[in-house]
Amino acid sequence: VMASMAHLQKEKLRLQEELLELQEKLAAQENNELSLSFQLQGQVETLKAKLLEQAQEISRLRSELGGTDAEKHRDLLAAENERLRQEMKACEGELRELQRQQQAPCRDCPHLQENAGLQEQLSQLQREAEETRAKLVELDLEVQQKTNRLAEVELRLKDSLAERAEEEERLSRRLRDSQETIASLKSQPQQIKYIIKTVEVESAKAKQALSETQSRNQYLQEQVGMQKQVLKEMEQQLQRSQKTEAQLRAQIMMYEAELERAHGQMLEEMQAMEEEKNRAIEEAFSRAQVEMKAVHENLAGVRTNLLTLQPALRTLTHDYNSLKRQVRDFPQLLQETLRSARAEISQAIEEVHSTNRELLRKYRRELQLRKKCHNELVRLKGNIRVFGRVRPITKEDGEGPEAANAVTFDADDDAVLYLLHKGKQVSFELDKVFPPQASQEEVFQEVQALVTSCIDGYNVCIFAYGQTGAGKTYTMEGTAANPGINQRALQLLFSEVRGKAADWDYAITVSAAEIYNEALRDLLGKEPQEKLEIKLCPDGSGQLYVPGLTEFRVQSVEDINKVFEFGHIKRVTECTNLNEHSSRSHALLIVTVRGLDRSTGLRTTGKLNLVDLAGSERVGRSGAEGSRLREAQHINKSLSALGDVIYALRSRQGHVPFRNSKLTYLLQDSLSGDSKTLMMVQVSPAEKNTSETLCSLKFAERVRSVELGPVSRKAELGSWPSQEHLEVLKTPLGDSPGSAASPGRGHASLSPGQLSSRSASIRRKLHTSG
Ligand code: ADP
Ligand code: MG
Repeated sequence: VMASMAHLQKEKLRLQEELLELQEKLAAQENNELSLSFQLQGQVETLKAKLLEQAQEISRLRSELGGTDAEKHRDLLAAENERLRQEMKACEGELRELQRQQQAPCRDCPHLQENAGLQEQLSQLQREAEETRAKLVELDLEVQQKTNRLAEVELRLKDSLAERAEEEERLSRRLRDSQETIASLKSQPQQIKYIIKTVEVESAKAKQALSETQSRNQYLQEQVGMQKQVLKEMEQQLQRSQKTEAQLRAQIMMYEAELERAHGQMLEEMQAMEEEKNRAIEEAFSRAQVEMKAVHENLAGVRTNLLTLQPALRTLTHDYNSLKRQVRDFPQLLQETLRSARAEISQAIEEVHSTNRELLRKYRRELQLRKKCHNELVRLKGNIRVFGRVRPITKEDGEGPEAANAVTFDADDDAVLYLLHKGKQVSFELDKVFPPQASQEEVFQEVQALVTSCIDGYNVCIFAYGQTGAGKTYTMEGTAANPGINQRALQLLFSEVRGKAADWDYAITVSAAEIYNEALRDLLGKEPQEKLEIKLCPDGSGQLYVPGLTEFRVQSVEDINKVFEFGHIKRVTECTNLNEHSSRSHALLIVTVRGLDRSTGLRTTGKLNLVDLAGSERVGRSGAEGSRLREAQHINKSLSALGDVIYALRSRQGHVPFRNSKLTYLLQDSLSGDSKTLMMVQVSPAEKNTSETLCSLKFAERVRSVELGPVSRKAELGSWPSQEHLEVLKTPLGDSPGSAASPGRGHASLSPGQLSSRSASIRRKLHTSG
């Protein structure tokens, strides 16, 4: 027992130590717990404060942008949206109206395009508005979602708050428990003492209590840790919710900005549309005004026109009425007028008829008389005609009294001319007289019948007679610009021959010769100096021919020109002074027309001799010597011979002295028989040439006034262009005493005595002139 007592004592000591230790531990534990409780209380306090803050924040947030605010905002937006929609609709309506209005008046105006563009823009804007609307709906949806989420979060927050309140409750309860426990523990030292006292007996119990306390302590610690965990979670949750809230707020702001922008854009577009609309309306209005103004002006013009037209219309109506009346009466009037006119006309026609009949009768009688007279004339005159041609006064005649005009004409008789010689007027009558102004063409017209008779087989001679410078060469050759008889005759022959080409073959040949000092020379030959002989044809036909005389066949005017050129050149080269030489020689152009009638084989030959005679002026016997005298003698002889031949021919003498000169001998066959001769007597009108002019005219008249014997050949009417010379019958036959026959006595009844006395006077005259 002692031992166990000792042991127990030891045990008791150890336990006491242990107890002390435990007490210490407990005290520490108490301290710990106290501080812990203090800490916990502080923590709870801060938590509470935080919770309060959180609640306040939440309430604030709710008030600021809580679900109701967001909803309000959304509602506001929706309302705005609706308003905009309505506005847009109104705008569309207006626009449609406007389009309708514009379409109606100006279907083809340029604004239609503009309108189309605007419509397109409008539709684009509408599309954009649609999109914006869709976006708005989306945003609405999103806001809805966000609000839902916010509500959820709030709900969760509420839950967590409730939980936390519960936990707080629990904690505070536990704290109270702990405090109670601590208080109880404090009150325990007696107990412990008791315990210690009883430890000895109840150590097991103490031990159990201790362990219980320990376990409880542990549990409390666990609880605190759990609380801490929950707190942390709650803080985290709070942070998350704050973050979400910030995000949400930013999103809302963004949406708001976007909304604002969309709205602004819409407003702008609407403004632009409005402006566009206004402008279009204004333009249409101004256009309409302008058109209206024009229409007004037109209207005013039309009104004034109408006003002025009314009186005109009145007068027109009046006129019309009177015309109508006239027209009504017109047929009757017309009928009457026609009737009277018809009567007048038929009467007039009757009168005209009777007059015509009378005239025709007279005309026929006249014609017969004329024919008779003409036949008589031709019979009287034979085939020898004498024309006179007076050249104009030229520069060569000089000036002053010498160049004065001494030749005048009879206005009523183109066959008479008067010469003032030595103060005395002498009259001459020829077959025709050409005054200075007569053209080459007029002269040729008088000659052309002679030329054409050549085609029918007649021989023709045309002589140009007169003093040098009186116009012989001008009449025969003419100038290049104004050709004379030569060229015109050949041209006429060509055209006539062409006209007869259907039945006849014609050959026209040309020869050119010159007679100088009674020597015949070929102007177209190779040796012009060679003197040619005139010979009788050996066939016994009595025809003459010139062996060696060159003949050129010509077919056109060009050919003739070549021939003339050739002959002219020959003449020029052969003589030193052509003018002088040509005035001293006779120049002959001999045209032969040979025809063959193809159907009958009949042959015809006609010769046209165109002779430019040597100057007829008398050369003073005393002044001339040698060759000049010889020339003058030859010329005188040949011209006298020509006069003699013509005289003999016209007076039908048995002997014609052809052989007295080369010229008459050469032209023998062209002067006799059926041949026709024309003497063109050229004179100068100048005062200084009057004595030569007198001589030439005397020669002409002498040749012409040769009385004819009985007709020995058949003269054809129409061969001579001599209808104008009918009056010859009425005129006295000459100035000789024998010619003073009374007009009552017809020419046909001239007695042989009268005839012979006249012939004698003429012969006398011829002799006196040499
Ligand atoms: P002829 O041959 O008689 O000697 P021309 O024929 O040489 O005379 O004429 C002399 C001048 O007179 C020429 O200059 C010519 O041109 C001119 N002459 C002659 N007759 C006329 C006329 N009828 N018209 C114009 N000029 C003429
Ligand atoms: Mg001449």
